[in-house]
Amino acid sequence: MQIAAEIVCIDCGGRCGLLTPEPPGGFRPGDVVAYRCGECLDRWDLELTEDDVGEPDDDERRRFWA
Ligand SMILES: [Zn+2]
Repeated sequence: MQIAAEIVCIDCGGRCGLLTPEPPGGFRPGDVVAYRCGECLDRWDLELTEDDVGEPDDDERRRFWA
């Protein structure tokens, strides 16, 4: 699963790079990831939603409905 490698800084409009390495199983909804702004150096911690990580793959869908 892929999430945004960069987000737009809420304070200054600069580009914030992802600090959190992707875990072995990939990101999941509810994971908290950190971004650091390259302009003002603010850090942003975001909790991922299903929209951020995309649709569950077939394995996850099977587990969900099992
Ligand atoms: Zn900024």
